[in-house]
Amino acid sequence: MKEIYTIFGNPVAHSKSPSMHNNCFKAFLIPSCYTKTELKDGKKLKKTIFDLKIKGANITIPYKEEAYKICDVLDTNAKTIGAVNTIVNNNGKLHGYNTDSTGFVKSISEYKDVKSILILGAGGTARAISVALKNEGYNIEILNRSQNRLEFFKSLGVDTNSHDSFKTNKNYDMVVNTTSAGLLENSLPFDRDKLTNILQNSKYAIDVMYGKITPFLTLANELGKITKDGEDMLLYQGVLAFDYFTQHKFNTDDIQKYMREGLKS
Ligand code: NDP
Repeated sequence: MKEIYTIFGNPVAHSKSPSMHNNCFKAFLIPSCYTKTELKDGKKLKKTIFDLKIKGANITIPYKEEAYKICDVLDTNAKTIGAVNTIVNNNGKLHGYNTDSTGFVKSISEYKDVKSILILGAGGTARAISVALKNEGYNIEILNRSQNRLEFFKSLGVDTNSHDSFKTNKNYDMVVNTTSAGLLENSLPFDRDKLTNILQNSKYAIDVMYGKITPFLTLANELGKITKDGEDMLLYQGVLAFDYFTQHKFNTDDIQKYMREGLKS
């Protein structure tokens, strides 16, 4: 029987996950299909998975925390992060994973001289990458628009600031934008002058958003920084998700090759 996989989110039209996963299904001769599902109400996530007989799913903005809540089984990484971006439906039991974390660390592994990282935003993606970066020994700090979501980071032992309390007198090797400011509002994630000051003292600027140059990356490029968008992170989190979907049956280098082809098509 043809199995159905999907990505849930709102918005979701921009997602490249279907091209990546469908190219892998085609290459490995798996008769499955990966679609996009725009979900207006996160509370309907679980019901929709069962109503549409979804075998596996990725979850994007703004439902990763809701996805975490509906899983029956969570891997250790997802449990620590409190957010899930990959669900496998194992005979009615939902197994949750977080592949954003490892995906992000892999995407910046080419930059060998990075020790300190300022992360902008405190949502599901910031949680995922903070846990992974901390485990890898990076010195990280969080800067979020509001005070709302800082507790999680404090409990990890990470320094946190809201826009109001932040003083721009520290230097960071890398600044990572995980906010949805560039996606939803096409705006900078922080005050332009303060962000300019931070970026001037940094070497790398990374945005987890892909498919467009965000105002954050535009500013970093203008300041002559080494920049990268979220395409590599997307690729690596997708490879790990596909590996879970197919129960580790395929070689990850092959998955990566076919996913990259799908991403470029
Ligand atoms: P969440 O909704 O969980 O978090 C959004 C964060 O952005 C919050 O901290 C919020 O602050 C902040 N924010 C929103 N608007 C603004 C604004 N105008 N100015 C400053 N801060 C703002 O989102 P996710 O963490 O799930 O996703 C964030 C981004 O990461 C999305 O663009 C998504 O597409 C991208 N992403 C890319 C991946 C990839 O593979 N490349 C993987 C995962 C995500 P507050 O708490 O104050 O509301």
